Amino acid sequence: MAISYKQKCSRCKQNFVLVTWKTKFPVCYECQKSQLQGDITDPEMKKLLEIPE
Ligand SMILES: [Zn+2]
Repeated sequence: MAISYKQKCSRCKQNFVLVTWKTKFPVCYECQKSQLQGDITDPEMKKLLEIPE
């Protein structure tokens, strides 16, 4: 069983990420997305990518 806890994103240091003991570099969903797709400028897209608390 994996124990998960919340830690601040090491990239933007704003969002909390659910991590496990395996996670060395927690990156929030938003940062992961921007890494993959570059900066998202479309506000509609940003809405879609928002993570629920
Ligand atoms: Zn982040």
